Amino acid sequence: MNLLRLLIIAVVVWIAWFLLKRWLAAEEYRKILQKPPKSPELMQQCRYCGVHVPASEVVYDQAVPYCCVEHREAARRSSGR
Ligand SMILES: [Zn+2]
Repeated sequence: MNLLRLLIIAVVVWIAWFLLKRWLAAEEYRKILQKPPKSPELMQQCRYCGVHVPASEVVYDQAVPYCCVEHREAARRSSGR
């Protein structure tokens, strides 16, 4: 009878261990899912040609965004400055 009790305890422990492992795996999976996606870089539209460029590559002229120096210069020329 003692052996049977030991066996039951072993099975209960094994089930608890199995469930804990599954719960931890689910928790890990949920963490991966909840990870916020890399925020997309802010896009700026070139005032000259209308192309959208990442904010880090934008060329500014008095807070007006341009995709490249050439378009900034072209816009300056066309505005008569
Ligand atoms: Zn442009």
